[in-house]
Amino acid sequence: MSYLSYVNPTATSPWHTYLAQVDRVLPYLGPLARWAETLKRPKRSLLVDVPIEMDDGTVRHFEGYRVQHNLSRGPGKGGVRYHPDVTLEEVMALAGWMTIKNAAVALPFGGAKGGIRVDPKTLSRKELERMTRRYTSEIGIIIGPQQDIPAPDVGTNAQIMGWMMDTYSMNTGATATGVVTGKPIHLGGSLGRVKATGRGVFVTGREAARRIGLKLDGARVAVQGLGNVGGAAAELFGQAGAKLVAVQDHTGTLVNANGFDMADTMEVVKRDGAIGAYKDAERIDNEAFWDVDCDILIPAALEGQITPARANRIKAKLVLEGANGPTLPEADDVLADRGVLVVPDVICNAGGVTVSYFEWVQDFSSFFWSEDEINVRLDKIMVDALKKIWDTADRHKISLRTATFAVACERILVAREERGLYP
Ligand code: NAD
Repeated sequence: MSYLSYVNPTATSPWHTYLAQVDRVLPYLGPLARWAETLKRPKRSLLVDVPIEMDDGTVRHFEGYRVQHNLSRGPGKGGVRYHPDVTLEEVMALAGWMTIKNAAVALPFGGAKGGIRVDPKTLSRKELERMTRRYTSEIGIIIGPQQDIPAPDVGTNAQIMGWMMDTYSMNTGATATGVVTGKPIHLGGSLGRVKATGRGVFVTGREAARRIGLKLDGARVAVQGLGNVGGAAAELFGQAGAKLVAVQDHTGTLVNANGFDMADTMEVVKRDGAIGAYKDAERIDNEAFWDVDCDILIPAALEGQITPARANRIKAKLVLEGANGPTLPEADDVLADRGVLVVPDVICNAGGVTVSYFEWVQDFSSFFWSEDEINVRLDKIMVDALKKIWDTADRHKISLRTATFAVACERILVAREERGLYP
């Protein structure tokens, strides 16, 4: 399945999952399938050494990556992840999913992703800044407002984007706000960006629920990961009348069949970065999270969480993939056989990159929109994109995931064909 000599994917690794998803769409690409190999090979992968001086005077080296998976439709776009398990192969998969996602919502971007193999919680603020600046300088040869535009992902945030923007600007001699998105508001950031991914999860979830006749008022929601994505999504479902009945994060799993108090929950998460200290819930074994009685399940943490065994136990009618790559391909089949509808990551969590696109556009024109304008435009783009995907799924009798890949791959490969193969 992987013909690349430099990676060796296992059956559960993200790059393997991505390739299996591409294989499933090939029968629906018609003559464009002759370009399909282009989706299975990242265009460009940069590996960099990131040495920094620690506060105690020692020198440490970190491994950094930036992968530009496909640039047929425009400059690269995709986040930067700081996590101890980051590998080249994971970044390749995340970049591949960005190519699909950007095309699925028709943004004028290709797909890219970056990362550093580090636990950012172990660094001081100054060390984090030095590491970010050195990494930005090292990948500076391939990023830029018209080349490749990073954004936050797991373990990175607006402050880190601010340092990246400043470093790139210092190196090129001109303030370049358009080089990264997800920046602080004062540095050309966009209103609505922080919660945009969670809002997109809510919008696609609301539309999917309506289509399968599931009422949000009173619906029971279970969320894995109450970070940027899961937290914002949970809040919006709460505002729509749904009850949060289970939460899992890196510190454990809590349940309350009567529903968590959303304000208290978000306050605890904001204060501690974890749900552990929330009082009004029962702690259960982590594995029991997958047996919880609920209507909507939102995996919003890491890849590879929904295995075939867990897919057999899930009680929800609707799975909303806030995280990238949370479901293994065999688990997709189990969920489909059991009649559980999955709104796949490549459309479900596209709200973040959509508002990143708005940020990039606003930076170029130096004219900024109101939060209401942003939310209304985001809602419309997500609803329209999901409708086209749903129609495609109905027409071919395929899953929403394969339909999203079909819509996206057609756009990517038509662009490939129209540009022609250089030289
Ligand atoms: P985050 O760092 O803000 O939050 C991650 C959450 O996952 C935290 O609540 C953490 O406790 C939890 N978590 C970590 N390890 C866990 C484990 N082993 N078990 C259970 N929970 C665990 O990250 P985020 O920005 O919310 O991203 C979450 C997912 O959404 C990732 O897959 C990311 O790629 C994807 N995503 C993020 C964005 C964005 O705009 N931030 C956009 C699209 C997709």
